[in-house]
Amino acid sequence: MARDHGEAIGRTIGCRRCGRKRGMIRRHGLRLCRQCFRDIGPDIGFKKYS
Ligand SMILES: [Zn+2]
Repeated sequence: MARDHGEAIGRTIGCRRCGRKRGMIRRHGLRLCRQCFRDIGPDIGFKKYS
């Protein structure tokens, strides 16, 4: 697994995948919007929360 060097993280508060701030999920230290969470959530070990 490749990890980011923190370039895109720490400056902008937004989804680290698409960059939008709408519908952000900051649970579990994630910085993903709902769309990306739904998209890659299962891939990173999170199930769809109901
Ligand atoms: Zn996103």
